[in-house]
Amino acid sequence: MSVSEEKFTRQTLLEVQTLTPSLFTLRTTRDAGFRFRAGQFVRLGVEKADGSVVWRAYSLVSAPHDEHLEFFSIVVPGGEFTSELSRLRVGDTLLVEKMATGYLTLDRFVDGWDLWLLGSGTGIAPFLSMLQDFEVWERFERIVLVYSARSLDELAYQPMIHGFAELEHLAEYTHKLTYLPVVTREQAPGCLNARITDLLDSGELERAAGLELTPEHSRLMICGNPQMIDDIRQRLKARNLNLSLTRRPGQVAVENYW
Ligand SMILES: Cc1cc2nc3c(=O)[nH]c(=O)nc-3n(C[C@H](O)[C@H](O)[C@H](O)COP(=O)(O)OP(=O)(O)OC[C@H]3O[C@@H](n4cnc5c(N)ncnc54)[C@H](O)[C@@H]3O)c2cc1C
Repeated sequence: MSVSEEKFTRQTLLEVQTLTPSLFTLRTTRDAGFRFRAGQFVRLGVEKADGSVVWRAYSLVSAPHDEHLEFFSIVVPGGEFTSELSRLRVGDTLLVEKMATGYLTLDRFVDGWDLWLLGSGTGIAPFLSMLQDFEVWERFERIVLVYSARSLDELAYQPMIHGFAELEHLAEYTHKLTYLPVVTREQAPGCLNARITDLLDSGELERAAGLELTPEHSRLMICGNPQMIDDIRQRLKARNLNLSLTRRPGQVAVENYW
């Protein structure tokens, strides 16, 4: 995909943090005119040695009000984009499309009491942006954040997630949040230890949240691995929880990463 010069800005990398050999976070400067809704994504571009540019979609981790932009990335072995991205260092340039897009935002739901945010791997990113924004805390009575990774060291942003409870401006709201970390390939203390689909089948997810999934009250967002999203959607459909469309508001919104 090529993007014409007037459609992107050049931003500078301020920080790169390696979490595991296959996961890292990056922080960049932000163009003063760049706007987005919490939950949206933007296309990022990296220049290759031959002068061509590779573009890929990335969810914003940072909040709409932050001065910087933050992203959370996988390194795909041999991946055209992430091989280049993971080579960048502080001071290097990242191209950022001017227009953020995407429908994994609170606008997808017209009502609902309980918001379930189900993210696998880097698919946690849009939910971190939402939780740093005020709107979600005001709109819902309960928020259940389910974050699934293969191993404990792949659960990123733990200080941020656990830190919501201490944020002064959220003091009267943080009791609404239940955080359920899920680790699928090892036993980890304080985490659920099965795939989200199995946790749904066994009822363990609802038990751990202390909350029932119902079409009246529950609204769900699912992000990340497309197979996981399909598998979860099937189970939700069987319980009358359906995709939310413009012409037919429902309970579920999804974002497939590939
Ligand atoms: C709307 C949207 C938002 C996205 N947001 C993010 C994000 O915030 N962070 C992020 O790391 N990626 C995100 N992605 C995926 C991203 O666009 C690229 O696919 C990823 O950077 C890999 O690029 P690549 O060229 O190296 O490999 P590609 O050739 O693009 O992908 C190769 C294969 O790698 C696997 N893969 C791709 N992305 C991931 C991933 N995130 N986790 C696990 N396996 C993956 C898939 O099997 C895919 O077929 C998003 C994708 C979409 C459509």
